[in-house]
Amino acid sequence: MTSFSIHGVGVSSGIAIGQAHLVSNALLEVVHYQLPKHLIDDEIKRFSNAIAAVKQDLEQIKLSLRSNAPAELGAFIGTHLMMLADRSLSEIPKDIIRNEQCNAEWAIKLQMDDIVEQFELIEDEYLRERKQDVIQVVERVLKVLLGHASQLSNKQQNSVINTERKLILVAHDISPADAIQFKQHQFAAFITDVGGVTSHTAILARSLNIPSIVALQRARDLINDGELIIVDGSLGVVIVSPSKEILAEYKLRQEQWELEQQKLQRIKSTKAVTMDGIHIELFANIEVPEDVTAAKSSGATGIGLYRTEFLFMNRRDMPDEEEQFVAYKSVAEAMKGAVVIIRTLDLGADKQMNPDTVSNCANPALGLRAIRLCLSEPKIFHTQLRALLRASHFGNIKILIPMLSTLGELRQTKLLLERAKQSLRKQGIAFNETIALGGMIEVPAAAINADAFAKELDFLSIGTNDLIQYTLAIDRTDDAVAHLYNPLHPSVLKLLSMTIKAAEKLGKSVSVCGEMAGDAKFTKLLIGMGLRQLSMHPSHVLNVKQRILHSQLSLLNSNARKILALTDLDKIEPMVTKFNQH
Ligand code: PEP
Ligand code: MG
Repeated sequence: MTSFSIHGVGVSSGIAIGQAHLVSNALLEVVHYQLPKHLIDDEIKRFSNAIAAVKQDLEQIKLSLRSNAPAELGAFIGTHLMMLADRSLSEIPKDIIRNEQCNAEWAIKLQMDDIVEQFELIEDEYLRERKQDVIQVVERVLKVLLGHASQLSNKQQNSVINTERKLILVAHDISPADAIQFKQHQFAAFITDVGGVTSHTAILARSLNIPSIVALQRARDLINDGELIIVDGSLGVVIVSPSKEILAEYKLRQEQWELEQQKLQRIKSTKAVTMDGIHIELFANIEVPEDVTAAKSSGATGIGLYRTEFLFMNRRDMPDEEEQFVAYKSVAEAMKGAVVIIRTLDLGADKQMNPDTVSNCANPALGLRAIRLCLSEPKIFHTQLRALLRASHFGNIKILIPMLSTLGELRQTKLLLERAKQSLRKQGIAFNETIALGGMIEVPAAAINADAFAKELDFLSIGTNDLIQYTLAIDRTDDAVAHLYNPLHPSVLKLLSMTIKAAEKLGKSVSVCGEMAGDAKFTKLLIGMGLRQLSMHPSHVLNVKQRILHSQLSLLNSNARKILALTDLDKIEPMVTKFNQH
């Protein structure tokens, strides 16, 4: 069997190795057929029985919830029970069966499509996402109608308990009710095709604390039942049919990971200080306001990157000023005076508002993205700037501009920021007059000209994800060239070093907020190069902190100098490995 990997969004860290257990997608199996008049009453009865069976199932699950189960779970089951009892799901399909003389599966599917359409018109993102609950409830009813009542039948549950085999759930989507059963029967991980960061699947994944990945798109189709898979929740990668070598490597990593997790908790409230007393600020990257909880419990002392574009995704309309204000303010308040760096909209390229939107330009990563998009849509930008400014009254907010490549863009941004301030002043609305403005250094043009940017900005933040992509001409989303994507490329390191020096010279703070900052194998190098602030996914904070606690700055500086003097990637990599051992 050939091995391959699938990439998604890791929503809960950890490594799991086990056999794929495919959960069917009942919705895809629904067919439409007509019934003769004399069978209609029986069909309605079949439908009513299915509703009753699902109700009983859900009530059973609710009763069996253990007292230590996350509070969200009970609430989700309650929501599903309410939806099931609602006329729109329990009664209207009966009318459809009668009027259209169709099968029960088809009737409830038609009704679901109708409800989902109405949900999609709701402005509030949270409420709109609840359409997923309707789909999950309907899935349950369909499974009963189609004769595969529950994927977690007693027989299957027992087999999970009785064998040593670890099973990994592979599904198109997973309902909260199913997720509870996974927890109770010790599934090792779960992965799904769909699920945004605010989907229930993602919320639950975090609260259940088992490795999981969502948004894998076609995992359910590509993976066969029983196939051996590795789930790396931290990287968001699934490896299917791994080779013996990869498997051995991951088994080792898994053991290490589990051990380290236990040990790491001890340093949660320890300051990130090198052995020779240099303090390194460790911040967290967040995508949605709810991530603040994870950020705080990771021991991060601030938010180094809040990617606001996620507020704009999976919806038809733009969030208005009030909605944005509430989101930004909630993060600022939750951080209680600690730094919160909020990045303005970075839509475009792989981050489209709607996942179905296909960019029609040849090179979307080089197109109208991030600050370029904002400057071409000043109204959208004005709304965001006003919301950010208003929120700045409630905490320690700093504004970060993505993808700058010219000083002209920066100056235009400043003008628009001043205009937004002016409009608030006129209305007598409070905001932080001296709010700091920083720029992402993630385009080689900006790194090469970092001195000039540092002069006109309050701080710099290096986006290594894009800096590597644009320096090496490697599409960060393209698997075919992923093996060439290397943060240690000498040209990338030179650009990093230039940027750090430019900021140092002008006394401006500089950080890295790309993935490189969260990868502990680069920690010593980055600090040795002069960085004193790193921002990363909350799950990486303790790992990076541990490296810092075992570092000696004087040694790191000289090691970094030696690495920077090298021009050959093949020599840099072993050197970094060697230096990490000291
Ligand atoms: C980056 O490019 O490194 C970065 C942090 O921004 P994003 O990953 O959101 O493009
Ligand atoms: Mg970027």
